[in-house]
This record gives sequence, structure tokens and C-alpha cells, in this order.
Amino acid sequence: MAAAGAAWAQGQGTRLEILIRNGTVCDPARGFKRKADVGISGGRVVAIADDLQRADSRETIDAKGLYVTPGLVDLHTHCYHDATGLGTEADPIAARSGVTTWVDAGSFGWNQARGFRRFISEPAQVRIYGFVYLYPDNRNPDMDPVKYVRSMMRQTGETVTGNRDILLGVKLQVGSNMNGRYSLDFLKIARELCDTYKFPLMAHISFAPPTTEQVMELMRPGDIVTHCYNTHTLGILDGNGKVHPSVRAARERGVLFDVGHGLGSFNFEAARKALADGFVCDTVSTDIYPLNTAGPVFDMPTTMSKMMHLGMSFDDVLKRVTIAPAKIINRLDGMGTLNLGSPADVAILGIEDGEFPLVDSQRNRVTAKQRVVSKVTICKGRRVTA
Ligand SMILES: [Zn+2]
Repeated sequence: MAAAGAAWAQGQGTRLEILIRNGTVCDPARGFKRKADVGISGGRVVAIADDLQRADSRETIDAKGLYVTPGLVDLHTHCYHDATGLGTEADPIAARSGVTTWVDAGSFGWNQARGFRRFISEPAQVRIYGFVYLYPDNRNPDMDPVKYVRSMMRQTGETVTGNRDILLGVKLQVGSNMNGRYSLDFLKIARELCDTYKFPLMAHISFAPPTTEQVMELMRPGDIVTHCYNTHTLGILDGNGKVHPSVRAARERGVLFDVGHGLGSFNFEAARKALADGFVCDTVSTDIYPLNTAGPVFDMPTTMSKMMHLGMSFDDVLKRVTIAPAKIINRLDGMGTLNLGSPADVAILGIEDGEFPLVDSQRNRVTAKQRVVSKVTICKGRRVTA
């Protein structure tokens, strides 16, 4: 094909480092889905063509029967090693799950950001970004909690803006089980902080109070509500199992809704009801941490399989784990797509047919007829190894 021939021309004369042959390239960002070979060199995708058989390459990967996709982007993970054991080693899980970009959803406060950069983000084979938690967890018990959180605004704001290359915004857990009776006060402080410094807020929702309306009212375009398919008292559904009007209004003005599966926050029934009411999440993420990697989360391909079991197509899910979260991160041109010149972050995925038990956060079981599996993870032009 003419287009593919032109694509290859740009790669000619380059010795490829990795050649992926015989796969189906699937790039939802530009609606590209067809059999093609992919050439990688110098950390970039340098060729996409019908047949690169004669290309000179150091390594050739046969992807027959598999999908060659942009590296997966997980908008809600926990990589920072805090005292509660949230820290996930990204590389070994990335090697088996196709996730080349990880976003830590607030496992650290502003005073740990240097450690996050030096010991988490920099040494990793994969790309790691983070939302900073609204406040560090070191309050003097004699100090009023609201005053304490308010006193952390400036340092938190300056830390995020001063580390824009890896820090994306502020995270807050909103729910009576997380911040007790201070949740709404803290949310108002987070709102003020994000407005002042002009970066997004990621809000976890779990248990009321506050109410869904109170939370939605404080969310602005570009903010992210995570744990959208939870079955708790602070969720996106009303008492009749329909999407709450305040949630619809939030979405209409540009608030984004993320899955954030986790140990407690993904429920098949809640997701089914929301989907039946036409409410499809903007991004699919895992909320992965060591306590859930042996179930119910396991990894990103398992979370994708759950969304497919609920009726979404592979392409629709893939979009929500590639270009959609990459646009939210918005730090690297070409992230989340697989195009000439884009960073060589690639996942090679398969879809298997059979009978696969899947379990949600409340341990409800379903049997899926298909599952997504990851075969190879390439980030920055190199295979990610465990
Ligand atoms: Zn989380």
C-alpha cells in the first residue's frame, strides 16, 4: 500500500534494533488497525509497513496472531514505597503486563517528591509520573487537621509546578473512611490549591459523607474522579442504579472518570448499571499495589478483560488504556499512539478464547469467554525485563 511504503521510506538506511513482524497493529488514537510490521530504532518507532522482511534488525519478534499496540498507560497505580506497603515495583509487573507508563496516584506528599524522582521514577525502565497527595502524613496530633492541611498548600503547589516533568497534579481521598469528618474541608482546600496553581485534581471517592453532589460540584474540567465503578455510598450511581445527575453534569463540563479497580473499588454490578445507563469510563486503570496483585486486580490485562466481559470491545478498552490517559498526562509527544516517530513504547497483546474466572473487589465471580494477555513489553525502545 502506498501509505505503508511511504512510512517505510523514513526507516530506510537505519539498522533496526527491534523488528516486530506479522502482528496486527492496533492504534486507537488514529483508528489504525491492520497487519503491519513495526521497526524500532533509537527509542522511536521508525517504520510501520506491510512487510519489513528484508529489514536489517538486531532482534526480530514474531507477533503472528497478536496485537501490536501502544504501550499501556495506567493512570492509577501506587509505586512509592510508603509505610503502609503500597509500593509496587513497576518494572517486573510491566514486563508481564504491557504497562509502559505508570502514574502513582498520591502515595507520597510534597516532602517525599525528591525521593519519588530519585528512587522511583529515575531508575525505572518504564515511565513513572505521579500525583502528589494533598498533604504529607506527618501532622502533629495537637494541630487542627484543617489548619494543618491548609498550611501545606504552598509547598504542595510549588512542588508540583517545580517538578512538572514528572508530577501531574494533586490527589485526595474523599470519603468518610479516609479523612473522617474533614473530607469536605480537605476537598475545598484541594480545590483552592488546584485553582491557584492550575493543575488537575484526582479525587478518590468511597464512602459518604460527603455526598456525590458535594464532590461533583467541586470538580472542574480536566479533574479526574477515580473509583467510578465502586459500590459504596459515595459513587456515581443514585439509589435507583442510575447515573447521578450531578455526575452527568460533571462529565458534560469535562470532568474525567477513571476505573481505579483496587482492593475495594471495582464492582461488576455497579459497572454494569453505569454502562447500561450509557456511562462509559474515560480511562481504565488498576490501582495496583502489592495487596491486590494476587487478586482481585492481578494486572492491567486482567482489568481490561473485565471491561470486555462487561460488553466493551477490545478497541474501546485499548483506547482507554493508551491515548485517553496519555492525553491526561500530556507530558510526552506521541505517548499513547503507535505512529512513525512516536516513542517506542509498545505492548504485544493476545486475546485468548476459553473460560476464564474473573473476580471483582467484592469477590463476585464471573466467567469470561475471552481474556487479554501480554506477551512482550517494550519501553523507550527496549524490552522491559523483570
Ligand atoms: Zn489508589
